[in-house]
Formats: sequence, C-alpha cells, structure tokens
Amino acid sequence: MHCIKQKPEPWYSDGLRFECIQCGRCCRGPGIVWISPEECSAIAEFLALPQDVLIGEYLLECEHGFVLRDRLDMGCVMLDGDRCIIYPARPLQCRSYPFWAEILESRDAWLSEASRCPGINRGRLWSFREIRGRMLK
Ligand code: SF4
Ligand code: SF4
Repeated sequence: MHCIKQKPEPWYSDGLRFECIQCGRCCRGPGIVWISPEECSAIAEFLALPQDVLIGEYLLECEHGFVLRDRLDMGCVMLDGDRCIIYPARPLQCRSYPFWAEILESRDAWLSEASRCPGINRGRLWSFREIRGRMLK
C-alpha cells in the first residue's frame, strides 16, 4: 500500500496583510517591468496616446516583448513624484506585487521585502485564496 503524503500548507495559509499606500518606493529602484501586448493597448488607451507614441516614448522593445523604460535616476518612466500615472491600468507585474512567488517563498523573504515596502503587514487581510488569485508565478 502506498502512503499518500499531503503537501504541507504554505506558511501564509492564514492570509497576509497588505495595503498599498502609493508611496512609489517600489517604482524608484532599478527593475524590469514587462508589458504584454494587451497591456500595451490598455495603457495607450488609458493615456489617450496612439500605441506607436507609447512605444516610442515609454517602452523598450526587447527579445521577449516590451518593458517600461527607466528614467535617468532609474525610476520607472510612469512615476510622477510618488504617483504612478497609469495606476488603474498598471501592468500585471505591478498589480500582483507583493504576491510574487519569490517574495512568498518564505516568511523571511516576506519580512525582508517589508523593509522595502511599507504596505506589507499593514491594512486589510488578504485570504490565502485571494493571494493565490493575485500571485505572479
Ligand atoms: S512600496 Fe509598497 S506601499 Fe509603496 S507603492 Fe510600492 S507597493 Fe505600494
Ligand atoms: S507602472 Fe506604475 S506601478 Fe508599475 S513600476 Fe511603473 S510607476 Fe510603479
């Protein structure tokens, strides 16, 4: 007879607290934000710009698609002060933060990210199901 081992529950199975206070800190450092073709259309529509203007001024084309440009200070091109100018149309990568696989890998990784993001461990409780629904794998 085989013994079927159950997978252990993830450490965040009781949920996690997170509330974005829109401080813009996560948008200021160096980083790569991927943009899908659908997101490219949605952002162009949100900014009321033709797609070729959006691509020329705000995006960089690379082997696997588009990424957002960085400003000279390494901040995201969509950041104006502390505010994301495309917040309602921001890409999935931004929308799913901080529920990324590498940040949810362990409690230590989550706590370490909290030193960068003041929204972690504050505000409302996200259930396990909501976190999995938001998660960027
Ligand atoms: S660092 Fe955290 S709280 Fe600040 S904008 Fe980014 S996600 Fe929101
Ligand atoms: S698109 Fe908006 S939320 Fe995403 S990194 Fe740029 S400024 Fe931040």
